[in-house]
Amino acid sequence: STTPLKVAVTGAAGQIGYSLLFRLASGALGDRPIELRLLEIEPALKTLEGVVMELDDCAFPNLAGIEIGHEAEKVFDGVNLALLVGARPRGPGMERGDLLEANGAIFTAQGKALNAVAADDVRIGVTGNPANTNALIAMTNAPDVPQSRFSALTRLDHNRAISQLAAKTGAPVTDITHMTIWGNHSATQYPDLFHAQVAGRNAAETVGDQDWLENTFIPTVAKRGAAIIDARGSSSAASAASATIDAARDWLHGSADDDWVSMAVVSDGSYGVPEGLISSFPVTTRDGDWEIVQGLEIDDFSRARIDASVAELAEERDAVAKLGLI
Ligand code: NDP
Repeated sequence: STTPLKVAVTGAAGQIGYSLLFRLASGALGDRPIELRLLEIEPALKTLEGVVMELDDCAFPNLAGIEIGHEAEKVFDGVNLALLVGARPRGPGMERGDLLEANGAIFTAQGKALNAVAADDVRIGVTGNPANTNALIAMTNAPDVPQSRFSALTRLDHNRAISQLAAKTGAPVTDITHMTIWGNHSATQYPDLFHAQVAGRNAAETVGDQDWLENTFIPTVAKRGAAIIDARGSSSAASAASATIDAARDWLHGSADDDWVSMAVVSDGSYGVPEGLISSFPVTTRDGDWEIVQGLEIDDFSRARIDASVAELAEERDAVAKLGLI
């Protein structure tokens, strides 16, 4: 189709936005022309104008137009894809409740705006943290949008897990398949090597080192964000943007045959995850829809890890319910 794909990006003047927009505009989602619709808070609009000047200066052939603004109902008008990146970071002395409340205000408003003005086929991916619960808030505030259209990003964790396993085994990243991140995009997430494969062989068996799996692999993946802040002096941004693209591309165009990806999506009760929580699962995607991979055997080790992360999600849900956000 030559009708442009309308893609909204929130927090577009931020660090992730600075990587993400140029990838989107240069064709990372395919050949279809795209129109960017960029939302920022008012004080960041001037910075965003500078980013738009740079986008203009790239003369991207497939970039059909750019709209910017601070009002969600205008910016989200007719969007087919909404990438919700902007969120309120945790400030000094901020408790988790404060963080949930600040983000609650953002994601209730954006959920309502998407409900009112997005295209019928809209897909919504949440990158801004706490991503799972922000997605839950937006979803609950958009009752006319099917729940399956919302997801939160665990693809960066998924990609980090692939990279760590490739480094450990000496295999190229293309040999690593069937990786799964379960649960919350937080330190409690569970990257699962018991179903992952290295060149078609079970990853946990190939590694053969439970101590590495438990005490190096899992914490390295879960705490990678902090390690990057330590090294770089600011949080990961290009890799978060890249994962946001990977997730959107696979959602719209389908995951690879004989493989799956990790996405946080609304639970139907699969694998004992309470219905309605937005939790990360192994999913296959096709034509803009996802399906949770069924029938995986979950051993006691994995069960305990999944349960712990899901318990955290349930606590976050209860906290935002108490605040009246869902
Ligand atoms: P970034 O662009 O670096 O990050 C944006 C969000 O993505 C944060 O919530 C961040 O979480 C999250 N994130 C998810 N995964 C990762 C990851 N792996 N690494 C780093 N971040 C990750 O933040 P900036 O502060 O540079 O930019 C945010 C922009 O959003 C600002 O320009 C601000 O004005 C805007 N904003 C816009 C809103 C709107 O459009 N209505 C509302 C709120 C903010 P974490 O905080 O945990 O690092």
